[in-house]
Amino acid sequence: MLIPAEKKRLSGWGRYAFPESYVFRPEKWKTLDAVLKDDRVPDFLARGLGRSYGDTALNEGGALVNMLRLNRFLDWNEEKGILECEGGTTLKEILDVFLPRGWMPYVCPGTKFVTVGGAIANDIHGKNHHEEGSFGNHVISFDLITGDGRNVHCSRDENADLFWATIGGIGLTGIIRSVKIQLKQVKTAYFHVDYYQAKNLDDLLEKMKEYDTKYPYTVAWLDCLAQKESIGRGILMGGRIAEVEDLPPRWKNMPLTPKKKKDITVPFDAPAWALGQRTVGIFNSWYYDLNKTRYQIVPLEKFFFPLDRILEWNRMYGKKGFIQYQVVFPGNDVKGLKVLLEHLVTSQRASFLTVLKRFGPGNEGILSFPMQGYTLALDIPNHAGLTHFVEDLNLITLRYNGRLYLAKDQLMSDSMFHETYPRWLEFQEIKLKYDPGMRFSSTMARRIGLIPERRRAPIC
Ligand SMILES: Cc1cc2nc3c(=O)[nH]c(=O)nc-3n(C[C@H](O)[C@H](O)[C@H](O)COP(=O)(O)OP(=O)(O)OC[C@H]3O[C@@H](n4cnc5c(N)ncnc54)[C@H](O)[C@@H]3O)c2cc1C
Repeated sequence: MLIPAEKKRLSGWGRYAFPESYVFRPEKWKTLDAVLKDDRVPDFLARGLGRSYGDTALNEGGALVNMLRLNRFLDWNEEKGILECEGGTTLKEILDVFLPRGWMPYVCPGTKFVTVGGAIANDIHGKNHHEEGSFGNHVISFDLITGDGRNVHCSRDENADLFWATIGGIGLTGIIRSVKIQLKQVKTAYFHVDYYQAKNLDDLLEKMKEYDTKYPYTVAWLDCLAQKESIGRGILMGGRIAEVEDLPPRWKNMPLTPKKKKDITVPFDAPAWALGQRTVGIFNSWYYDLNKTRYQIVPLEKFFFPLDRILEWNRMYGKKGFIQYQVVFPGNDVKGLKVLLEHLVTSQRASFLTVLKRFGPGNEGILSFPMQGYTLALDIPNHAGLTHFVEDLNLITLRYNGRLYLAKDQLMSDSMFHETYPRWLEFQEIKLKYDPGMRFSSTMARRIGLIPERRRAPIC
């Protein structure tokens, strides 16, 4: 039985490139099984909500399997807080149902519009990595459809090689069908947040050390246009989930159900200048001055997902899109971070969002991104000279032993990937064991030399 597919041009969240693929949207597992037997396409890749910035969730000339209809809750153990759900379930769906009951995912990225399959495949991190690790740390087990057509149960004890290859394995080991995850118990859906207005990078890093011991969640926004002795000035935020006694009286009787505000949508692609140096400069000064040192209790989602209220905000970067460059430098040495930031400032390329976090130790995920150190993320509009600029950033990253986050990457070369992800050959071996015919592939995997180019012709 041939399942209908649509030929589509899709992009990553950065809207940098729109390659064509065949998109399947199965609703039942039976249909998915039939999709994966389709011989018209050279290979497959699961796709969640497409929130990866670059080409991690793209498969030019092959098939994409849209997972969004495979999003059912399968089992809930209220006593232990263990949820079993399908791979296409989103964090939004989990929060909508379980936060009012006092449970939430341990790890939330900067948006709730991600699927659990996508969260595992990129082993995503939140603002609490220094305390609670990445998403994979809280996955108990999952069922994976592998390239040889089997349904393989994976956990730390069962098929552990495949378990750790899939956590951070960018969808290349197969399709995550269902997942068992541990949720975290909370007493309120509010957040106690401390703001610290840092006058430069040294000031910020010093305070960050203190916040990291004091708070389970920390993150800093940097003003990428601040110059000279103010380089790296920014707002450091640290906090914890509020207790009922922290709340003002009007919230105390409904601590788990804050009022929601209406979302707004960016209705069209903004012109190229909209997020240029001038506008970003105005925004940065305003935001920096707004957030004087103080503390606040805010709805949890406002702290975790500040951009989610503006739907399709990626259109603000205009038709040519943007890239996100996220690097981690290992250990406590901040030299690489400083050099990279100075380079950004002197280049006068305004990064609308420049975010700094500190990671704790990484897990055993073979291609998992986090490692103990500092991670910096920059949004860079796709203006003339972007690739040269990124090459300069890459030289700094390599010189200081950093590596790039695959969920964000769009431009890394194969040699840089091989150098900075030294376990890639181990990953390849496991992939070959479970997917000898290379049925799972992606634009990114071929670009960074993680798997060889196709032997069969693409169909588009
Ligand atoms: C505003 C914003 C903020 C963000 N903040 C953070 C952050 O703080 N921390 C962080 O770590 N990331 C962050 N991200 C990135 C995002 O969390 C990841 O890219 C995440 O993986 C996206 O999930 P998705 O469902 O959209 O997956 P997609 O982007 O669609 O796919 C990502 C990968 O997962 C694979 N995949 C998807 N579903 C399955 C499945 N069922 N089985 C097997 N493989 C699958 C795909 O093949 C692909 O390789 C942010 C993104 C945005 C847009």
